[in-house]
Amino acid sequence: MTQLPDFAFDNSYHRELSGAYASWQGDKVPAPRMLRLNVALAEELGLDAEALAGEAGALIFSGARTPTGAAPLAMAYAGHQFGGFSPQLGDGRAILVGEVLTRTGARRDIHLKGSGRTPFSRGGDGKAALGPVLREYLIGEAMYALGVPTTRALAAVTTGEKIHRESGAKDGAVLARVAASHLRVGSFQFFAARGEVEMLRKLADYAIARHDPDLIGQEGRYLSFLKRVAERQAELVAQWVNLGFVHGVMNTDNMTISGETIDYGPCAFIDSYSPKASFSSIDQHGRYAYGNQPNIAAWNLARLAESLLALIDADDEKAIAQATEVITGFPELYQVAWLKGARAKLGLTGEAEGDLALANGFLMTMQGHSVDYTNAFRALAEAVRGNDAPLRALYEDPTELDAWLQAYLARAGKEPAPAAARATAMDGVNPLYIPRNHKVEAALEAAEAGDMAPFDALLKLLQTPFAEQEGMQSYARPAPESFGAYKTFCGT
Ligand code: AMP
Ligand code: MG
Repeated sequence: MTQLPDFAFDNSYHRELSGAYASWQGDKVPAPRMLRLNVALAEELGLDAEALAGEAGALIFSGARTPTGAAPLAMAYAGHQFGGFSPQLGDGRAILVGEVLTRTGARRDIHLKGSGRTPFSRGGDGKAALGPVLREYLIGEAMYALGVPTTRALAAVTTGEKIHRESGAKDGAVLARVAASHLRVGSFQFFAARGEVEMLRKLADYAIARHDPDLIGQEGRYLSFLKRVAERQAELVAQWVNLGFVHGVMNTDNMTISGETIDYGPCAFIDSYSPKASFSSIDQHGRYAYGNQPNIAAWNLARLAESLLALIDADDEKAIAQATEVITGFPELYQVAWLKGARAKLGLTGEAEGDLALANGFLMTMQGHSVDYTNAFRALAEAVRGNDAPLRALYEDPTELDAWLQAYLARAGKEPAPAAARATAMDGVNPLYIPRNHKVEAALEAAEAGDMAPFDALLKLLQTPFAEQEGMQSYARPAPESFGAYKTFCGT
């Protein structure tokens, strides 16, 4: 039997939260094969990357073999999906293998997606197809390189199994991913909906110990915890919006307590700026559209607040009043976080009265004019350097830009830093390369046909999204018109 490397697991969720999971193992699959290992991440986790790159990694990360010290389990959670509540979702095709500590002492979950049916599978087959696994790998790593809190891909393994989807038979695969934790809003909803207050308290104390350890044992900690989650989500969603990212399926079971982005299913980046941009084939009413994400974050946080009421205060009315204050404060938290990001995008370090209007004004010049959002900010840095031609070239009618650009350059000119330094700073926050939808699709299509070269090239490019790379100009351009309206598909 293949010797498995040592992981030094320390499985706190398994140890402390019995009742919040089912112990479970992955399926044996016909031919597990390591497709891609994230060596840098494996090393960060203190794992034996060399051993994991071969058969041992394929066995472990497909779920077929359980390494020593692991305590694999399927987590229980509930969730509002598109506004409708399911009291029991849970890991239907995933297992938490165990937790490890990074070289710097941070606790990380190692989790498999696509490892087979679990007690929470309902009608599903418990499997994942290669395309969506590689999509999550690619976009997650791109988000990481863009500086966004996110779960990360540790490995993609093929299983040698055919799985059946609407679009036909697909190669099966498993994604091994790493997260600060897999606690979700839906984890709390699960126990709240069942009226299990003591389990809820255990879960909340566990989450506090893991994500907000300064609150351990404090009076009023559950309300403070709610505030912390709201702050993290405000920061996260502001980053999404500032980058043009559309998550696509912000159900409460896909919103983390840690503030990391999770579950890259139907996500996409916008090209033209439009608050209504929505790509998911099942999001027919635009609930999770680009510009609606802050509203949905607030809605989801209200569900978390409701779930925590019994812990916040024994007196219902008092609990509701305190929780409501946090939720009604969210738009302000969000706006502060968004404006901080928008100022950086505009190369503004100081704070002036009209900055919010100025930032919105730039977006208004783009809206309805098919201006590429990502490229507009890169071109703006060029304008700061004194050449506004690339920016003007993005507009069919460049005069739309005149008044705004004049106001912007006047405001920016009052900054203490010289123009060249400001432009450099802008290029450090406004990516040149994002996962362009057509490039992602082409890479996944090639991978499904057995050619990993386009995937590897795109992954490498997206690992340094702010620096120009030779010969990669086509990756900085929006999709050609022939690509058509982009549609993404969920939960596959
Ligand atoms: P999602 O919104 O895609 O993160 O998943 C929603 C729920 O559906 C979760 O409980 C998943 O575990 C479950 N699920 C998604 N796909 C499958 C599948 N192929 N088999 C079993 N459960 C699944
Ligand atoms: Mg999910």
